[in-house]
Amino acid sequence: MKLTIKECYDRIKGADMVLLGMGIDFEPDFKAVLNSNKIYERFKDDIDSLEETDGLWLEYAIYYHELASEENQIINEKLEYINKLVNVIDKKNMFVVSTCALDIIRFSKFNQERVVTPCGTILKMECHLGCKKDVYDSVKHYERLYKKLESMYKDEKFDKTYILQFIPICDKCEASMEPNMLTLVSYSEEGYIESWELYNKWLSGTVNRNLVMLELGVNFDTPTVIRWPFEKIAMINKKSLLVRVNSRFAMLTPEISETAATFTMSSYEFINEISKI
Ligand SMILES: [Zn+2]
Repeated sequence: MKLTIKECYDRIKGADMVLLGMGIDFEPDFKAVLNSNKIYERFKDDIDSLEETDGLWLEYAIYYHELASEENQIINEKLEYINKLVNVIDKKNMFVVSTCALDIIRFSKFNQERVVTPCGTILKMECHLGCKKDVYDSVKHYERLYKKLESMYKDEKFDKTYILQFIPICDKCEASMEPNMLTLVSYSEEGYIESWELYNKWLSGTVNRNLVMLELGVNFDTPTVIRWPFEKIAMINKKSLLVRVNSRFAMLTPEISETAATFTMSSYEFINEISKI
């Protein structure tokens, strides 16, 4: 169906429940974030010369520092758009599914208990060899590594042997740990399973309800997480509406032409427009 952005806004405001799917548009350029950090700039070549898993820890420690500082311009720009969305959907019975693993959404104003990130999070870690499925908090390791990087920066010397002692290792097989992300070597689904169960329970409550699904910038990397399930709901629940916003992949299947609308634009253009209403 054809809808204007104003009509989408009205449907959201009139909805019983809102499901938000967030894709690649909300993931920052990881390297660009690193490049905006002075310690990374100074030690980039030293970090690149490390073994991959070790180098990765220093990169994520720097990225986490930028994320948590709330002063990084690239990250803040994305965060600002996410918070504009919060204002539009605010006070609705809602859930957010995001394929982004770089966790900007974790610093947004969304109710964090209603956010699930099935493609992982940098805030947790697992054994790099996958010898066990347990996931652990990774933040304290990033903070410690960053402190060590800061002191090496002050001394103007990268001490490889020293910094490597602070890379967390698995207590079972002694391999390095790695951030809990689908895109890395090993991936433990334990990291999101609890919120996934909560999400599925919430979804079962959408049956036959006036549900608006807003799908923003989701590509085909993991279509089973957002695109296909949203389409399936739009096909089954005749009271639902799927709004697909995508600058490249805005197409819809004919089966859902009565319960779906599409906008060929970036998530940012859409958010800009809808938050002006
Ligand atoms: Zn292990």
